[in-house]
Amino acid sequence: MKIIAVGMNYAAHNKEMHNPLELPEPIIFMKPDSSLLKDGKPFFIPDFSSSVQYETEVVVKINKLGKNIAERFAHRYYSEVTVGIDFTARDLQSRLRTQGLPWEISKAFDSSAVTGAFIPLRQAGDINRIPFRLHINGQKVQEGNTAGMLFSVDKIIAYASRFFTLRMGDLIYTGTPSGVGPVQINDHLEGYLGEAKLLDFYVK
Ligand code: ZN
Repeated sequence: MKIIAVGMNYAAHNKEMHNPLELPEPIIFMKPDSSLLKDGKPFFIPDFSSSVQYETEVVVKINKLGKNIAERFAHRYYSEVTVGIDFTARDLQSRLRTQGLPWEISKAFDSSAVTGAFIPLRQAGDINRIPFRLHINGQKVQEGNTAGMLFSVDKIIAYASRFFTLRMGDLIYTGTPSGVGPVQINDHLEGYLGEAKLLDFYVK
């Protein structure tokens, strides 16, 4: 399986990162299957970064093979959803971006793609109006709503499938709202989709 992620998909996050507020097309990057962390396993802060930041994102799971999917049919290609963390080594990313270099290593490292438990989409509601949030040590640190996306899930699928064949089990990380920040050893992260807690793990 592969993980397709979208950068800069919420205007308020782009503002806090000093990125453009409007984009002509989605910013797509990938994470390898070795980046996946699930089942509540702990996340170990890697030694190559001194600023690993959480990005809380809605994650959809592709349920059938597709290529060049039209936006109007894209909803047929996913039926489960969860909340996840796109961990980012912000210091590495900033340095690489300043140098004009690819920033894969800051985004695609081991355990950087955390997923919660998937639930049926019909349980989560309208994909374009799902509220989600992250608590760290019991405090709400980030919240968003998929209504705030610059590119909807269906638009992302249509766009990404022009370049990459989507297969059953592939995951799509749909971007983070504002409020990203660093994690520390012993932090307890809990992620919610609506009122359902689907993500629960510790940083070590
Ligand atoms: Zn992200």
